[in-house]
Amino acid sequence: MKEHDSLAIVLSEFARTLVTDFPIEGILDHLVHRIVDILPVDAAGVSLISPVAAPHAVAGSDESAVRYELLQTTLGEGPCVAAYETDVPISIADLRHDERFPTFAKDALAEGLMAVFTFPLRNDDRCLGALDLYRRTPGELDEEDMATAQTLADVATAYLLNAEARSSRADFVATVSHELRTPMTSIQGFVELLEEEATGPLTPRQAGFVAAIARNSERLTHLADDLLTLSAFEEGGTRHPHVELDLQDVMAAARRTIAPIVDARGVAVSCDAPEGPVLMRGSAADLEALVVNLLSNALKFTGDGGWVVCRLTSTSIGARIEVSDNGLGIPLKEQRDLFTRFFRSTTARQHAIQGTGLGLTIVDSIARNHGGSVSVVSGHLQGSVFTVDLPRGGAPVTALQ
Ligand code: ADP
Repeated sequence: MKEHDSLAIVLSEFARTLVTDFPIEGILDHLVHRIVDILPVDAAGVSLISPVAAPHAVAGSDESAVRYELLQTTLGEGPCVAAYETDVPISIADLRHDERFPTFAKDALAEGLMAVFTFPLRNDDRCLGALDLYRRTPGELDEEDMATAQTLADVATAYLLNAEARSSRADFVATVSHELRTPMTSIQGFVELLEEEATGPLTPRQAGFVAAIARNSERLTHLADDLLTLSAFEEGGTRHPHVELDLQDVMAAARRTIAPIVDARGVAVSCDAPEGPVLMRGSAADLEALVVNLLSNALKFTGDGGWVVCRLTSTSIGARIEVSDNGLGIPLKEQRDLFTRFFRSTTARQHAIQGTGLGLTIVDSIARNHGGSVSVVSGHLQGSVFTVDLPRGGAPVTALQ
């Protein structure tokens, strides 16, 4: 295959994921492997450099690439540091005859490296680090290869800038949500005192006002909690370590959590599970939050006299959790946006059913964080079925496959 064809394939792979929230390490790792596939080099690596932090290696196509990156970042000398400082590519066709980086050259030659081609990860007036291509034989890279490599370095830069923007937004949201929680806890404490009439009896009108404050402060606390949860996922990681767990325990815990809501409603809730454990790797706390979100939605959007069924089954890939109800349903044309932040259906708004519009985004994040997916079948006034498929390994999707 011609090189520009391979480049086009690689670029289209990356273009498809630019606006997703794949962890940046997984992206860079995939990028360096693809570079070795399409360019005549033996290894490739990326190091990030900034004026405020020590340079650090973030990706390597194999162990040797990681070693060469670490060699440069620990020495603070080498083509990657120079490309970062000068913002121009650096070509070393034969390390034996190059005098620019003597300490690096000596150690790298001892490890069998012969040629290095380095490209700055640049964007307007900023440089974020460098992409290094390594060869164990001497010789130039031709012009087309150099241009291809710079294009791929630019792709890496776009990903890094995207991840940086996501991370600072997530930081901001997390800080604001956290700051909101403290005064909300205090408001709720004082509201409880008023409700208990600790300061004297309330008139019915005052009791009505206090109940409204209680409802709304609970809503705000819920919103802050949901935003905190989401920003944790946006940071690219899980909030809790993944361990071997039994989904039967997760389902039981979720049922206990929603029991008070079930008791307050005239909706028949039943659960169905196979005999014996349903094992997988994951975070019990996150998976419980997933089930609680689906169950509380089903209850919220189903009128008294309706039913909600929660079903756990073992599947060939792992497990399936299905939450169905015979409630309000979701109009077909609105289902596309269901897992988008702050989305609320026209039905939910018309019936003035409270919510943040973040629950399903959290469900989707948790499912994806476990390598799984969530889907829905519903119709206006026809009930809903939410299905979550989870692989037994539970591994998060980190690479572009
Ligand atoms: P919230 O429930 O807080 O509004 P979610 O993200 O959990 O936010 O849900 C988003 C929207 O999806 C809801 O506002 C509602 O319109 C719709 N929805 C979710 N679950 C159901 C359900 N079981 N039945 C009907 N509509 C639902």
